[in-house]
Amino acid sequence: MSEIVATVYANHGRWVARCPRPEWLGGPCRNAEHYGVHAVGGRPGGLTDEEFLCSRCGVEARAEWPANAQEIARVLMDRPVPETRNWLPGETVLRLQMENVEHGILPWTLEELRSMPAGLLFRSVEPAPDYELTDAELAARNAESYAAAEIEDR
Ligand SMILES: [Zn+2]
Repeated sequence: MSEIVATVYANHGRWVARCPRPEWLGGPCRNAEHYGVHAVGGRPGGLTDEEFLCSRCGVEARAEWPANAQEIARVLMDRPVPETRNWLPGETVLRLQMENVEHGILPWTLEELRSMPAGLLFRSVEPAPDYELTDAELAARNAESYAAAEIEDR
């Protein structure tokens, strides 16, 4: 059985997912739910470890988390500015680390760097091309799962 899926991503230091409902009051629902309590308002979001519950239209979906969410979070938390802590499905942890390095944030202490064999940094670069989903692709992916689940409900 297929199920409605809400894809989790990181935005401004928070884990969030968008509502997968493509039609609600004349257009896509467009609501997003966050994980845990909101840093400013203190309101708990509709995204949990397991599911997504839309506070606007009421849709329930399975929350699809990245398998390496903790690793992603650890690398993003090295960034001092919360607005720069972003991750989209498909982005590798290595790429996040490289972005950190580009901005002067090193995942190692100078002490650790000195103890590394020369050339290690270059050898760690992955040859595989990286990608990330665009907003439109993310919305399409959610809508597909929604449509598939709806057909099976009939
Ligand atoms: Zn909704």
